[in-house]
Amino acid sequence: MTTTTVWILGDQLMPDHPAISAAVAAHPADTITILMIRSQDRLRQRPYQRKKLVLLLSAMRHYAGELRRSGFTVDERTADSFAAGIREHIAEHRPTSFIQMAAAEWDTRGFQDSLDATIGIPVTTLPNTQFLIGRWNPVATPTGKRVIMENFYRAMRRHHGVLIDADGSPAGGAWNFDADNRKRLPKSVQVPPYPTFPPDAITQQAMADVEALDGGIGTVEGFAEPVTRAEALAAFADFLVHRLPTFGPYEDAMSLAHDTLFHSRLSAAMNIGLLEPLEMVRAAEAEYRSGRAPIASVEGFIRQILGWREFIAWQYWQQMPGLRTANDWDHPDPLPAFFWTAETDMQCLSTVIRRVLDTGYSHHIERLMILCNFAMLAGIRPGEVADWFLETYIDAYDWVVLPNVIGMGLNADGGQTATKPYICSANYISTMSDYCQSCAYNAKARLGDDACPINTLYWDFLIRNEQRLRANPRSGPAVLGLAKLGGEERVAISMRAEGLRAQWTDTASRYQS
Ligand code: FAD
Repeated sequence: MTTTTVWILGDQLMPDHPAISAAVAAHPADTITILMIRSQDRLRQRPYQRKKLVLLLSAMRHYAGELRRSGFTVDERTADSFAAGIREHIAEHRPTSFIQMAAAEWDTRGFQDSLDATIGIPVTTLPNTQFLIGRWNPVATPTGKRVIMENFYRAMRRHHGVLIDADGSPAGGAWNFDADNRKRLPKSVQVPPYPTFPPDAITQQAMADVEALDGGIGTVEGFAEPVTRAEALAAFADFLVHRLPTFGPYEDAMSLAHDTLFHSRLSAAMNIGLLEPLEMVRAAEAEYRSGRAPIASVEGFIRQILGWREFIAWQYWQQMPGLRTANDWDHPDPLPAFFWTAETDMQCLSTVIRRVLDTGYSHHIERLMILCNFAMLAGIRPGEVADWFLETYIDAYDWVVLPNVIGMGLNADGGQTATKPYICSANYISTMSDYCQSCAYNAKARLGDDACPINTLYWDFLIRNEQRLRANPRSGPAVLGLAKLGGEERVAISMRAEGLRAQWTDTASRYQS
């Protein structure tokens, strides 16, 4: 008798998994077994954010339960590795064919590609449908030519007919409403709470299992993420009503009191397949078309998913495997110890790092303009920064961390992902947040014991890289301010920056040893 195994990865918990559909179309349901492996190697690969492990274990168990209730046989197994799990499954179930959907990550895809030669039965690998670029590639440019996100995004909008009016023009009369979307959070704005999902028995078991593992970041306490598609849809529905209308204006704002503000906080659910990008984009567009949300917010949100998320996934496959070790600015220093403790007097960094260690979440601008800005200015090795993001965030996976951190945040990929380094002084941080108001440092000063170290590092970065920045038309204007600095001030800035870096390098090496 022919029997088929469908292997589903932990980040492929999609409502209509293409490998299941393909198996059902070709074989009677009672000859299909769904295989889901909890790889111990994977769980122990790094000291991961514990809440992320709870999410994965709980969501996989819920998904397996739903498949069983739909009549499928599910083989959920714990194994040392994917290879061991597949070997043990084949020995027990003796399938005659094997179907999988291509993984989102480079290493797992390489492993999947090797299966044909190693498991002794025919293997079918279907294209990945978690990303729209898996079905249609918007970029017909020869490799080697730089692709700008804005052009990529507009092509996606046109192809999928998103926010395009009947006459072919962009809805609301423009492709981009960024100029409306850079507001600081006023005191008068009410920030709605985001929905939380109390752990059920399956999640409580996952929490206990994760607690029993050695190592890890943060605690399982307070876990309240959506773990099923129904919960993820409820979280998304809540976002559409309560936060999408105000998403745009305060997209870049940062606040001591609020970590999520008007963001969706849905990346963790999306990245494991509980929500699909196009359904979210269409639902957001419907809010605009029905007059419930303004164009600046809806376009801003759709740009994140149809633009940035897809562009990032596309960059990953363009740049791997070299992206992992890219260090175009030759940055030499280790990550300071305070990234693991949140103990620093720089309030922006301590607030955001504490948040990430505790919850596994911070929003985009904090990732880019607080964490990566610091790492870029301080000259931290990109690989170490990427490792930290992979370990601490609840939504972190290789495909999304490497282009965002090494490409966008640290500009270490030769400018493929972002055409200029995203850097700022405390001026931007104090404009967009309330972090500086009660900080131990003076956000206006660049020299002196109480001067904000970010200012010193910022000016030192401009001094060290003046020629390179000047040569790039997009970053050139940043160095114009250098003309105001006298020779003595330049020397003093360089010396203080060197002292700060030496102090952080020292604590990093003592912490790591
Ligand atoms: P919203 O602001 O509500 O945005 C909606 C959705 O758009 C997000 O849920 C996400 O799916 C998508 N999105 C927006 N920007 C990006 C982007 N640059 N790349 C991919 N998706 C995007 N995102 C992750 O999912 N995992 C990560 O590990 C991750 N690491 C990042 C590291 C750095 C240095 C930077 C600059 C960005 C990173 N991002 C990552 C992208 C982005 O910051 C998060 O997706 C977003 O903050 C998640 O919060 P949210 O769901 O509230 O997003």
